[in-house]
Amino acid sequence: MEPSQTDCIFCKIVAGTIPAKIIEQNEHAMAFLDLQPQAPFHGLVIPKMHVASLNQITPSERRLILPELYEMADQVAIKHGFREDGYRCVINNQALAGQSVFHLHLHVLGGGKLKGSFGQ
Ligand code: 5GP
Ligand code: ZN
Repeated sequence: MEPSQTDCIFCKIVAGTIPAKIIEQNEHAMAFLDLQPQAPFHGLVIPKMHVASLNQITPSERRLILPELYEMADQVAIKHGFREDGYRCVINNQALAGQSVFHLHLHVLGGGKLKGSFGQ
C-alpha cells in the first residue's frame, strides 16, 4: 500500500479534489457511484490508501483490505435494497481483465436482473 498518488483518479476522489457521488465511507474504504454505470446500480468500493491492483498487495495486506471492501459492498447492497435479491461483485485485475483504473476497486452491480454471468 502506498500513500495518495497525485496522478490517480480514485486518490483524487478520496482527497475530494475531483467530485464523485459518495455512498459510504469509513476510515479505510470508500464507495461511490461509477461514472458510466453498467447496471441499474453500479458502485465502486475502494481502499482509501493507494493500491494499484490485486498484484501489488502482500498476503497480510490482502487479509486486511479485501474483507473491508466486501464488508462495505454488503452495506451498500443493504442501503440500496438489493442485498436479498442479488448483486454482483467484480474485481478486474490487470489490463487483459479490463482494468482501466489502477487503484484497486470492487465493482458492485445490482438493482435489477444482470445480463450474462460476469460482465454486462
Ligand atoms: P475498471 O475498468 O478499471 O475495472 O473500472 C474502472 C471504472 O471506473 C469504470 O467502470 C469507469 O466507468 C469508472 N471510472 C473511471 N473514471 C471515473 C471517475 O472519474 N469517476 C467515477 N465515479 N468513476 C470512474
Ligand atoms: Zn490511487
